[in-house]
Amino acid sequence: MKTIQLHTEIPGPKSKALLARREAAIPRGPHLVSPIFAARSEGAWIEDVDGNRYLDFAGGIGCLNSGHRAPRVEAALREQIGKFLHLCFGVTPYEAYIALAEKLNALAPISGSKKTFFVNTGAECVENAVKIARAYTKRPAVICFEDAFHGRTWMTMSLTSKTTYKTGFAPFASDVYRIPYAYCYRCSYNLTYPSCSVTCAHHLEDTFKRVVSPDAVAAIIAEPVLGEGGFVAPPKEFFPIVKEICKKYGIVFIADEVQSGIGRTGKMFAIEHYGVEPDLITTAKSLGGGLPLAGVTGRAEIMDAPHPGGLGSTFAGNPLSCVAALAALETIEKDGLLARSTAIGKRFEQRAHSWQKKWALIGDVRGLGGMCAMELVRDRESKQPADTETKELGKFCYEHGLMTITAGTNNNIMRLLVPLVITDEQFDEGLDVLEAGLAHIIKKKQAVVSHA
Ligand code: PMP
Repeated sequence: MKTIQLHTEIPGPKSKALLARREAAIPRGPHLVSPIFAARSEGAWIEDVDGNRYLDFAGGIGCLNSGHRAPRVEAALREQIGKFLHLCFGVTPYEAYIALAEKLNALAPISGSKKTFFVNTGAECVENAVKIARAYTKRPAVICFEDAFHGRTWMTMSLTSKTTYKTGFAPFASDVYRIPYAYCYRCSYNLTYPSCSVTCAHHLEDTFKRVVSPDAVAAIIAEPVLGEGGFVAPPKEFFPIVKEICKKYGIVFIADEVQSGIGRTGKMFAIEHYGVEPDLITTAKSLGGGLPLAGVTGRAEIMDAPHPGGLGSTFAGNPLSCVAALAALETIEKDGLLARSTAIGKRFEQRAHSWQKKWALIGDVRGLGGMCAMELVRDRESKQPADTETKELGKFCYEHGLMTITAGTNNNIMRLLVPLVITDEQFDEGLDVLEAGLAHIIKKKQAVVSHA
């Protein structure tokens, strides 16, 4: 039986009624990607309040690598609910927080002694990583990258690149410096890999002469694969060069793995693909198996730099989130979800390359494991971003039983963050909808041209 079942037009009557209530009660600031309201979910699908079923290629923006209501996560939560819900780890500690810290310390691709501290959201773990790096180095500045996304709080919004997230919210935090990322499809230097010799990474030395002195820099923060920026995975030399430069000047290298971590790319952490050891790693999204949780893991010496009482948050490392995270990590490890992520990436790549061969709309197919995407352009020469077409593709998808999300500074990237528990049959079904959506958009464009 097919997973995708649509019983009503989208949005159905119950969703329509909720949309009206949403508009009256909720400000316009928060995103609205699809006009349907959820009733329940399981594995890789969502059912809406009108009884329509959707395959989920968005995973709540990458928070469900272990699947919706993963059985181990659900069981751990039910058990914990019968014990205690909140105590505040700083007031009355509990074991699950420690067990999870030990687990992340063991998993993190950092040698030597490691420590982990928990908070609630991706932005909060990035905020804290910066605090820790500043306390350790006693330096103020942070270097970040073009097209980066690190959050919406004051410091993390300042580290975030895309101006849409910043309009109207100035002033921003000081001592933040931005440099180009290794976005080879749209190289900031107009060079081509590999003849470019990875100029973008070496350019840091120039930044230290022209923009900020290296002895003022506490940290360089980078997403190992750009998330909101459009699933760009730099060439293999990029991070080793950046890390070497950090080492030379005593700068803390922070890998922001909020989106790319916890199995998304076929390894527990995306930075493992580059054979580089970060000093600090930030995690969130899929860490909590669907519950809010975030962490900073790093070299013990750096993690211990802030004084006692210097770090904390009331709900940080909530017992429910910690037991859910332990169960989500067990699911990823025991159910082979790292290998599954790699297989999903290959399956997508094959299909997307066949689309790219026949349709010029697909400018680039890229990603790392199950963190995969395609960048849509109006033509291959100018690479003019096909933003309205990408939006239309997303709409076609939810109208045909598939939840997707887009990305990119130019809003022209269709990204996949499928729960890694998805079956091949379900995944292919979702890809069929994407293909039908692309064909629909191309046909519409051709009709416009022939009538012109
Ligand atoms: N860092 C990265 C790499 C992210 O992708 C995100 C969220 N998209 C964040 C930080 C912020 O996470 P949150 O929305 O949980 O604050």
